[in-house]
Amino acid sequence: MHSAKTVAFHTLGCKLNYSETSSISRLMEREGFEKKEFTDVADVYVINTCSVTDNADKECRQLVRRIQRKAPESLVVITGCYAQLKPGEIADIPGVDLVLGAAEKFNIVRHIRELSKNDAAKICSCDIEEVTGFHSSYSINDRTRTFLKVQDGCDYTCSFCTIPMARGKSRSASIDAVIEDARSLAASGAKEIVLTGINLGDFGKGPDGNAAAAITGRSENFYKLIQELDQVEGIERFRISSIEPNLLGNEIIEFVANSKRFMPHFHIPLQSGSNTILGAMRRRYKRELYADRVGHIKTLMPHCCIGVDVIVGFPGETDAYFQETYDFLHQLDVSYFHVFTYSERANTHALSIQPVVPVPLRNERNKILRNLSYMKMQYFEQQHSGQTRKVLFENHNKNGMMEGYTDNYIRISTPHRTEWENQVIDWKL
Ligand code: SF4
Repeated sequence: MHSAKTVAFHTLGCKLNYSETSSISRLMEREGFEKKEFTDVADVYVINTCSVTDNADKECRQLVRRIQRKAPESLVVITGCYAQLKPGEIADIPGVDLVLGAAEKFNIVRHIRELSKNDAAKICSCDIEEVTGFHSSYSINDRTRTFLKVQDGCDYTCSFCTIPMARGKSRSASIDAVIEDARSLAASGAKEIVLTGINLGDFGKGPDGNAAAAITGRSENFYKLIQELDQVEGIERFRISSIEPNLLGNEIIEFVANSKRFMPHFHIPLQSGSNTILGAMRRRYKRELYADRVGHIKTLMPHCCIGVDVIVGFPGETDAYFQETYDFLHQLDVSYFHVFTYSERANTHALSIQPVVPVPLRNERNKILRNLSYMKMQYFEQQHSGQTRKVLFENHNKNGMMEGYTDNYIRISTPHRTEWENQVIDWKL
């Protein structure tokens, strides 16, 4: 039995992973662990991995090597998506003591107590089909803005994606549980909640992946969730982290347009502006639907910020198809893109699609779209120049500066003033 007392964390990947690390950390602190920085010496190191990150195994290996040099007696625990997908590969990394799959990451303390440093690496994992529980999680970095996980898993079958294999079926918290979390976040001083999930718009399926109605006797969906959250006192702002275009119905757009608390900001994955490529990706919409969603948002909220995820270099993306994506994005009234370069993932259908786009060309396309994104953001910001908008300033003092976001997600940086921390200030842009 291990008598570890201190723990340090490192997170790779998305906001959902960060919120889960944050919850695992609070859970361990409640069990008597003291939290250390990852650069400090600790009894236990937890690395929360991601399967989307390129070279996840390389990154993991480097981190474990660093720990071994610094603290050879410490326990090393690897969890997260990559740990669920490739537990054997991770257990083979010299220095790893414990690999926790998706179902076990919140039982971390019990597993650590049962470990000894010199045992062979232990794998605690099960088939992803058996992972059905839902653990609500939230991150509190600086109290101002928190990421609240309300949904996990995905039932879609996009041909490039391993997330359903790493995180399992779509399932969510009940609306009552989310409201309770939001109230306790408000009581702890949080001003903004960012709703996060893997496929957030699919909110409403219960912990076993069935409709929540089967469990709670109520029919729940994302639209009902945001309506009820809007009533929570104390939270000044909500944001929707990302929502699939086919699940972003008019009622959600119209609700956000009329809400004082839901911010005029959407992040909507597009992935490609070519219907042929969207089909090969097994996405559930065509570009016309996407353009329609953007049009409806901008008609109701001309000031709304819209972010776009896009993948370049997907197999079969010829110059002509890439040009379609470029032209589509160019004429679309959106504010910025997150550009991902396609990279092969084991056990995905996309591996069988030809022709493969050479890596240098993928990188070149990434650069082209990033430049376009930069111009879009500049244009969006210029459109608001001279306007007064509300900025929520965060608690950090970064070398004498502080940062905050307007309602429509324009980042403001200004010399630090203590009295503005965690406050909403009218700001002339
Ligand atoms: S919607 Fe598609 S890309 Fe997103 S998690 Fe589900 S399968 Fe992956």
